[in-house]
Amino acid sequence: MDFRVGFGYDSHRLETGLKFRLGGVDIESEKGCVAHSDGDALIHALCDALFGAAGLEDIGTHFPDNDLKFKGIDSTLLLAKTVDILHEEGWGINNIDLTIILERPKLANYKPLIKNKLAEILRISPAAISVKAKTNEKMGFLGRGEGVAALAAVTLIRNH
Ligand code: MG
Repeated sequence: MDFRVGFGYDSHRLETGLKFRLGGVDIESEKGCVAHSDGDALIHALCDALFGAAGLEDIGTHFPDNDLKFKGIDSTLLLAKTVDILHEEGWGINNIDLTIILERPKLANYKPLIKNKLAEILRISPAAISVKAKTNEKMGFLGRGEGVAALAAVTLIRNH
């Protein structure tokens, strides 16, 4: 059996009056993401971790941000496509561990929604997904609420 670990990171700038999505879930917030797509940093980090674990480059290679086709795209579609690509290569997801770094709003109420949404898209059990959220203790760009960052670790398995 092949067993692989992948890691992903993404960040997006936040500005007042824009939509804010994390893990395919709309977040009520005074600020939202400045991005080519819908700015879903959590899904982007997750896609990078999945591609990385499978040795298949990264999200920018598969879904280039200079391609108009992906402008404003719902990132859940990118994640669904990512998992299709992994399945074609014979990979299954063993588990996913996610961390969101955001000063506000607090995400405690959103974590179960995000977990269930991702489980639905990836067609795996919510029990295989962990969603954590923390602040940056008011330090740096994250601490000043200028942006959001997300970290993703995944393990994949493939039977020979
Ligand atoms: Mg991104």
